[in-house]
Amino acid sequence: MKLNYKVIAIGVVFIIGVVAAYQKGMIDSQTGNELGVVATAEANNHETEASDEWSPTKPYPKHNVYYPGTEELKPNEMRVIALGSGMPMPRRKQAAASFLIELGNGDKFIFDMGTGSMERLYAIGIPLDFINKVFLTHLHADHMGDLPGFYIYGPQNNRSVPLKVWGPGGGGTRPEWGTQAAMDHLQGMWTWMTGTLEGMIDTSSFKLEVTEFDWTKVNNVIYEHNGAVIKSIPAIHLEQSVSFILEWNGMTLAFSGDTLPNQWWIDNTKGIDFSIHECVFTPELGVEKWGFSAQEALNAVTTIHANPSYFGKVMAMTKPRHAVAYHFQNDYDTLPVVMNAVEELYDGPVDYAQDFMVWNITKEGVRTRMAVTNPDAYPTPPLKEKKIAEGGDRYQTPDSVLAGWPEEVQVVAEEIYSNFNKKHGTDYKFQLKK
Ligand SMILES: [Zn+2]
Ligand SMILES: [Zn+2]
Repeated sequence: MKLNYKVIAIGVVFIIGVVAAYQKGMIDSQTGNELGVVATAEANNHETEASDEWSPTKPYPKHNVYYPGTEELKPNEMRVIALGSGMPMPRRKQAAASFLIELGNGDKFIFDMGTGSMERLYAIGIPLDFINKVFLTHLHADHMGDLPGFYIYGPQNNRSVPLKVWGPGGGGTRPEWGTQAAMDHLQGMWTWMTGTLEGMIDTSSFKLEVTEFDWTKVNNVIYEHNGAVIKSIPAIHLEQSVSFILEWNGMTLAFSGDTLPNQWWIDNTKGIDFSIHECVFTPELGVEKWGFSAQEALNAVTTIHANPSYFGKVMAMTKPRHAVAYHFQNDYDTLPVVMNAVEELYDGPVDYAQDFMVWNITKEGVRTRMAVTNPDAYPTPPLKEKKIAEGGDRYQTPDSVLAGWPEEVQVVAEEIYSNFNKKHGTDYKFQLKK
């Protein structure tokens, strides 16, 4: 009997040790490089807060979260926000792939714009004129499904500048599969919407500038401006898929999009500052959570996507300063499974992305926080005066439809105008017909 108690006691001590080691690992991987954490966090808090000390009436000197729009981005600092960390299967908690990258020089880039990501972007509250550059790794809906909506909602949300889109094509792949063709169709599908808005609101943001680049080229410079360089490397994800490498201010960030482990990524992301790489489920989780057959799950996570073991191996081979795993349903019961698989092969700092996870990146280090956003957001004000195109282009609702307009409501409409003009000293006239 005594021996048994001893065994149990040793067992308990062992378990406590394992839990402590596990928790330490969690803390290490979530906070990343401690040095930079302090530098960046302190700098930000001092900038925006009135006091260094805790007070019952003054703003608290420290926040553990990021409130968008309250922190100056320093000239040497990069901020990355996960707008979508999830999957093609829609869920409230996680949109599909999208990352916003903000540079201290004022540049802002969106890497992928998967389904559900647009509302996250709007929740950050950045004027749309600042975020008109979208880079697509490939044309799966979980990487570009919200682009059509983002494009067409420009006028109502006060974007006055054209939308610029970079995406893969060429390289011997069918031209009709390329980004240019996709964007032509995107504009085509909105023909009714753009046509009927003409002359009603400022539609200058309906201009779409597309740059299709050869997806097969390695370290293909697809953007170079204002000290920032964005290159593409091929990915192994069916065909016509790429990963992006962004270089700015002596720092390098890479975004995998979707890819199997590949030599281009391994050769070009060794030791980089910030490495965002896909990390889907294990095959068992695919069967359990997605309802896939065993063969479907195995195919998906070993021949099309990078499972947690692939992710761990790639990070062990490249050893970035800070890694981000995304592209899986990140829940209380799935995260430990994914983490365990990664940690069998890699023990460096990794954040397992959730939507609205935020990273401040400097040469000194990386700070990870969650953003607290405003669910009641309205559009940010226009940065330029809004102008409705003049002349004969204005759309006119046909007489046959206007025939249904009730005479009794005419009086109500004229009253609205009369009151508005009285209040504002204006002279607008109600007219259903131009
Ligand atoms: Zn994909
Ligand atoms: Zn994907």
